[in-house]
Amino acid sequence: MFGKLLIANRGEIACRVVRTAKALGLRTVAVFSEADRDALHVAAADEAECIGPAPAADSYLNIDAIVEAARRSAAEAVHPGYGFLAENADFAEAVEKAGLVFVGPPAGAIRAMGDKSVAKAIMEKAGVPVVPGYHGAGQDLATLGKAAQKIGYPVLVKACKGGGGRGMRIVEDPAALKAAVAACRREARAAFGDGALLVEKYLSRPRHVEVQVFADSHGNAVHLFDRDCSIQRRHQKVIEEAPASALPGRLRDEMAEAALAAARAIGYVGAGTVEFLFAEDGRFYFMEMNTRLQVEHTVTEMLVDADLVAWQLAVAAGETLPRRQGELEAAGHAIEARLYAEDPERDFLPCGGRLERFRLPDLDGYAGSVRIDTGVREGDDIPIHYDPLIAKVIVWGETRPRAVQRLGRVLADIQVAGVVTNLDFLRAIAAHPAFAAGDVDTGFIDRHLAGLLAREEAAPERMLALACLEVLLGGAAEARRAALRSADPQSPWHLTNGWRLNEDSRHVLTFVDGAAEVAVPVRYRGRGFLLELPSGPMAAGGEIDDAGTLIADLAGTRIQATVSRQGSQLTVIAFGTRHTLTVVDPAALAAGQEAPAAGLTAPMPGKVVQVEVKPGARVRRGATLVVLEAMKMEHAITAPADGTVVEVHFRPGDQVEEGAELLSFDDDEDSA
Ligand code: ADP
Repeated sequence: MFGKLLIANRGEIACRVVRTAKALGLRTVAVFSEADRDALHVAAADEAECIGPAPAADSYLNIDAIVEAARRSAAEAVHPGYGFLAENADFAEAVEKAGLVFVGPPAGAIRAMGDKSVAKAIMEKAGVPVVPGYHGAGQDLATLGKAAQKIGYPVLVKACKGGGGRGMRIVEDPAALKAAVAACRREARAAFGDGALLVEKYLSRPRHVEVQVFADSHGNAVHLFDRDCSIQRRHQKVIEEAPASALPGRLRDEMAEAALAAARAIGYVGAGTVEFLFAEDGRFYFMEMNTRLQVEHTVTEMLVDADLVAWQLAVAAGETLPRRQGELEAAGHAIEARLYAEDPERDFLPCGGRLERFRLPDLDGYAGSVRIDTGVREGDDIPIHYDPLIAKVIVWGETRPRAVQRLGRVLADIQVAGVVTNLDFLRAIAAHPAFAAGDVDTGFIDRHLAGLLAREEAAPERMLALACLEVLLGGAAEARRAALRSADPQSPWHLTNGWRLNEDSRHVLTFVDGAAEVAVPVRYRGRGFLLELPSGPMAAGGEIDDAGTLIADLAGTRIQATVSRQGSQLTVIAFGTRHTLTVVDPAALAAGQEAPAAGLTAPMPGKVVQVEVKPGARVRRGATLVVLEAMKMEHAITAPADGTVVEVHFRPGDQVEEGAELLSFDDDEDSA
């Protein structure tokens, strides 16, 4: 085994690889961009090397900078993690050329599988069933159109070099093909540097089932059973489990055999995943092979009780596979839920921001059946430059129902505030009867979306009371600063330390709760307050301790709560739940009215990649005006109504801040 390992990645996977490497006695070197100087993975490794500015293209995707960092730190091997350069054959070659060991498959295997068209052709030849479709060299619209016609609509247009669910469009009928091809090509060129596309039959309600394979350089290959990753949004996995539930045994064996055949066909070495779609007709089709460790490798680790990073390192060091097929046994059931900084309410838009609060449950009591992998800690920023994954929650149970129950419990005990996340959404999935029943396919989230997004109900009275106390006690330094900044004497932020009104004077705190406004008149009573809540008066008091925890007394009951603030938003975390309220500050409201029309501002910081309109252009409601790229995804900014573009404030390539007005627009209705 080599002595020193460089991890060419960041976030939870970098932390995870460091853990195993240290346990094996290796020295570890992290790499980091300027945005990640204080990141957890940097602190976790023995040494760390800066590899460039924040944008991934200048740092985590910069092959020369990473190879140079490996040289500088005298690392002997490089682990690529997943994402970034993990499936980049040039990177694997550059690492080997520098005389280092690449912890991954040979460059040839990466190259062959990196192109979905080439991969499908190889698999067809190896006798593995592939999704019916066109994966030829002809790329003009007429050829793709003819192919689509032959396959039969709906079809899926996919970037050959695609990954992460990007560069993919479902096309329902011939009229929509042209626009879809153009959009895919643009996304593919921007994200993968190659605009080649393939066309596939779009299967309805398939399950995503994949097989973990492992091969060593001595000709041994095993599979480590299957995983179901059907719970997806934007064609990206959110919840994965192992094994895939309710698969007929014969089919499971056939899939495993096909996966091994796929690995052998390309002389595979290392960890790989062969992905299949399991169609409604009971057949399975090869979709693609990922030549790296997957995000969801953790559920397989739980299932077979193995450390797959340790396996990778052993194989890279030239050792034989730690176990043979007959020594591998699948026990129980494991589920992983991915906690993302993203907004399910806004089509899962990634969100940056500071993790004001991030508390994980104490896992000691779970006796190894719960694991949480993360690359961030409370107070960290979630940079907008990279994938917004915050943590992976992995649970194991003797049976699937036990694992589902445990997942619900652990998710309930996680506290996050300051950044919008999918935590409530994950909780809703874990509690969903269809999920409990194992009734999953790739349409699960779309089908159940309304129920999964069920809006928070009005704040329970006690949560509202806690929000009032937070404002009244105003212990947070931030609140004091806000109060000092605010010029408005009406602002509730002014009710910080030392607020004393005479007994009879009333002050009214107003919150926006969901769509409703609620006003709570407050009277000062001795050392506390009398809150006139909608259901009646409540005596309340308390203090905010040095750690920022609100220790409240609500009608004689002592409660510990956390309230995190973001602007005028308060997120109250207590009683195992959380609730977000907005404090109505008259000054903020007045400013809000002058804000540009919704929809024409950048919903997040990002880069302008396309400007579709010129000043003076007449557009119909819904027309795409500007395309933004942020956190690895494209977002179209569309016309809110029929109207005229007055001015465009940015050009392709420009970086924009969240809330920046992208263009000025004259709405027909307004000007009428
Ligand atoms: P990526 O490499 O971007 O992850 P994949 O080819 O692995 O793309 O597909 C991602 C997801 O898209 C799949 O898990 C599945 O949900 C969906 N998908 C892909 N191909 C098809 C298809 N032919 N029919 C239906 N859904 C598909």
